[in-house]
Amino acid sequence: METICEYEKCTGCFACQNVCPHKCIKLVSDKFGELHPQINQDLCIDCGLCIKKCPVRTEPQWEVPIGCYAVWNKNEKDRRLSASGGVATCFSQYMIKNKNGIVYGVKWDKQLRPVFDKVTSISDVEDLKGSKYVQAYVNFKYKEVDVDLQSGKNVLFIGTPCQIAGLKSFLGKDYDNLLTCDLLCHGVPSPDYLSGEIKRILGRKIGLATNCRFRGNDKYNYNFSLWNNGKVLYNKRAFLSYYFTAFLTSITLRESCYSCRYASERRISDITLGDFIGLGKLYPFTGNAHNASVVVLNTSKGEYFFSEFRNSMQNLYIEKREYEEAVQGGESFRKPVKRNIKRDKFLVLYEKYGWEKAITKVLWKYIFRNTLMAELKKLLHKKSF
Ligand SMILES: Cc1cc2nc3c(=O)[nH]c(=O)nc-3n(C[C@H](O)[C@H](O)[C@H](O)COP(=O)(O)OP(=O)(O)OC[C@H]3O[C@@H](n4cnc5c(N)ncnc54)[C@H](O)[C@@H]3O)c2cc1C
Repeated sequence: METICEYEKCTGCFACQNVCPHKCIKLVSDKFGELHPQINQDLCIDCGLCIKKCPVRTEPQWEVPIGCYAVWNKNEKDRRLSASGGVATCFSQYMIKNKNGIVYGVKWDKQLRPVFDKVTSISDVEDLKGSKYVQAYVNFKYKEVDVDLQSGKNVLFIGTPCQIAGLKSFLGKDYDNLLTCDLLCHGVPSPDYLSGEIKRILGRKIGLATNCRFRGNDKYNYNFSLWNNGKVLYNKRAFLSYYFTAFLTSITLRESCYSCRYASERRISDITLGDFIGLGKLYPFTGNAHNASVVVLNTSKGEYFFSEFRNSMQNLYIEKREYEEAVQGGESFRKPVKRNIKRDKFLVLYEKYGWEKAITKVLWKYIFRNTLMAELKKLLHKKSF
């Protein structure tokens, strides 16, 4: 049988697994932990549906943005665990409370793997808060979305652009009761790297970790922190953390992320959410913009949802901005990230020795220098008092 798509271009979106009528496709980890389809040839009847529905093989329906806003939730308590302005959380709460709807988003499972979940209660939206900088498992959630849509439920699906593309391709048609939100995305590391990092840090105590955070509207923003039921087990600033540094410097992203077609001014969902990087740089901004979100409205459906949403939700700061400002500030609106020159060395070492040795060999000088600088800064700060 023909391969579903080119190996390096596969985004691991799970569309093929969901669409296969004989359940003979499963996304499995390759030697780097990247998820790729594996076909059970004994069951496959060569119907070609997986190839037909693969979003890598078809041109998506591109949307040209029609509105751009700087937004954040002014309720500091509600926003604390959110990645930036807490807009994804507010959208989710609104969808459940005001539209009697269902939300699909990403939470940690018991092994701290990021998995898509179906959420129907406001209290469960808590689990979706915060960006998990790692590729999430969609599993069979597109099928569940389809069932919910066909039963007339309002559905909000939030994910990376390639996951939105996977969902849309799987569904094959637009539904009035579906709202899609893509997160502006720099790229996703494989879940095996994150497991390797947690093991490196906690060793035999790995089972203690119940939460992993990267962002937040508190002192843990841009920190890599591990938690046990609200108690911090480990905490390092991003530039002192091996995992976070490797993510931010694009050493450990999935191979397809370096040629991502969705890192573009054209979008594929109803609404795009991200960090409003560069807010106020192109045009004056007077608000107190710490960790603001950018909300880009790409379709009339997204525009309608947002106007209803802003009329019903209190405690939101919303200001109209020029899309150009968001595009200039956010690289992922313009082009895919560049493959770090250290990546090849990392992959060779990872295959040979695993996560711990590979990442420390590639990054130890950088982390060592940053640690020294941080200690020096602390010392100078102490002395000046
Ligand atoms: C892998 C990744 C890379 C990103 N890269 C960038 C970037 O380069 N530039 C930028 O401006 N913004 C980026 N973002 C988006 C940014 O980090 C915030 O997610 C976004 O601003 C929304 O913040 P919020 O406060 O509204 O979300 P919150 O209220 O914190 O809610 C978080 C939402 O993100 C979803 N989510 C969390 N982790 C994942 C995941 N692994 N896969 C799919 N969905 C997930 C949750 O389901 C939830 O809906 C990235 C996000 C992810 C997950």
